[in-house]
This record gives sequence, C-alpha cells and structure tokens, in this order.
Amino acid sequence: MRVARTIAELRAGRAAFPRLGLVPTMGFLHAGHMSLVRRARAECGAVAVSIFVNPTQFAPTEDLSRYPRDMPRDLALLEDAGVDLVFAPEPAEIYPPGHASRIEVGPVSEPLEGARRPGHFAGVATVVAKLFNIVTPTRAYFGQKDAQQVAVIRRMARDLDMPLEVVVGDTVREPDGLALSSRNVHLSEEDRAAAPALFRALDRARRLHDGGERDAEALRRAMLATLASEPRVETDYVSVAHPVTLRELDRVDAGALLSMAARVGRTRLIDNVVVGEAPPR
Ligand code: AMP
Repeated sequence: MRVARTIAELRAGRAAFPRLGLVPTMGFLHAGHMSLVRRARAECGAVAVSIFVNPTQFAPTEDLSRYPRDMPRDLALLEDAGVDLVFAPEPAEIYPPGHASRIEVGPVSEPLEGARRPGHFAGVATVVAKLFNIVTPTRAYFGQKDAQQVAVIRRMARDLDMPLEVVVGDTVREPDGLALSSRNVHLSEEDRAAAPALFRALDRARRLHDGGERDAEALRRAMLATLASEPRVETDYVSVAHPVTLRELDRVDAGALLSMAARVGRTRLIDNVVVGEAPPR
C-alpha cells in the first residue's frame, strides 16, 4: 500500500493501475467505509482511498476541530483490506494560497442539508471534483447514507461530463438500525441508546408507504411522531422528497427519499431510506 501525501506522489503511484476505484473519505474509518472499499476493489481490481477532512465543507460554526481522526488506525485498516493507494494530503496541498474556484451544483444542493449548512455542498463538490482530477478513477464510490451528497455528485459528474462512473453503496447499520458514522463516537451512552430512533422513524414511514400510504404529509407526521417519542432526540427536519431532484413531494406515486436530521445530545445525525421505485441512474 502506497501512502501519498502530495498530488505528485499520488500521480506517480496511480500510473500503475489501468482501472482504479476511488473511495473518498474523511477518515476515522468504519464498516460503512470498508464496504465501499471492498466493492471498489472487487469491481475495479485496484482501489484508492482518500482521507481528507475537507475544511471548506464545514461552516465556521461547525465541528471541524471536533471531527474525529486516527490516521494510524485508518492506515492499518486499509492495509488489511488490500488497498493499493492512499491519498492523505494536508489542507495546504489541496488549497494552496490563491486557490479560488468553487463548484456550485444548483437546485439539488439547496434544500435539506444545503439549507442548514450554507456552503456545505459547494465545499463537497469542489473537493470531490479536485479528487476526481487528481486520482482520475474509473469509478468513484459513495454511500447512500449521505443521500443528498450522492444527488449532488451525480448531478455534477453528469453536468460537467466527468469521465468516470459514480457508484452508490447501501447504508451499513448497527444491529439496532443506527447508521454507522464517524460522528457516532461523540454519542454518550444515553445518546447512543436514543439514536436508533432515527432509523425507527424511517422504518415506520417505509412500512406505512409499503402498506399503501401515498400522502407524503402522513409519512412526515409518522416520522416526526416517532422522533418526538425519544426525549433526547431534537428533530431538525424530516423530508419526503423526489429521489433525484430532492424537491418535497405531496404524494408518493413513484419513488421517494425519506430523510431526516436530528440532534442527539451534541451530535447531529442524518439518515434516510428510499421507498418505491429505485431512482434512475
Ligand atoms: P465520510 O468519511 O463520512 O465523508 O464518508 C465517506 C464515504 O463513506 C461517503 O461516501 C459516505 O456516504 C460513506 N458512508 C458513511 N457512512 C456510511 C454508512 N454507514 N454506510 C455506507 N456508507 C457510508
């Protein structure tokens, strides 16, 4: 496994692989990341993982300094998984003095997380575009856990004719339904016990949908009621939206993205499930 700290080192290592899967991460790796790594390796034959806590996707009020990090552990996990190339740059390598360009992806980045985290998706789109240009992967792997991020990156890759395939892996969960997240490490014991309320709410709405409920507001109410039954959970939003445009729906006639954000203690968690028809690729 080659660990590149600079763009030049990465490019020198990349030349050995005709096909390469890329898994972009912010590190503090868990089984969700590793499922993407395994899939990338199986499908592409070689895999690169980037570890970069991207400062431009955190608002000034957000938890950049609190974001968990453990590079030695991450590198050991990636080595064990047979990863070929790791790209772990310092911020100055990615944003040298004078760096000014930013990618705005448009309406799909505006609602939901985009509305609560101003500038977040411009930060994500810009760093992902840079990673695509640096690594030039055949395929890039993202988790459904961050559903709006997937929608934004698909839109960007299509709009800007980026020569790669975007692949999405299922959300990996704890046995009680909690979606794995690097931020789960911040949950106290009580918070951890309360956190599965997010998935319970999504699962309840999914069962209502699968039982024939098509009124989006009824699904939102069901999610809100489940979240409200857990006193440690403070709901930020619940959404029933079109799976590609992310516009809120009145009725769920084809597929929908059910999603939510909530604070559990000091930690903000997001989660989602897709119901009905799978969104077009
Ligand atoms: P992050 O390090 O949080 O930026 O995540 C890196 C990649 O892993 C993103 O594409 C995430 O969507 C994905 N990911 C994070 N958590 C999970 C999970 N529980 N299951 C599957 N993929 C995940």
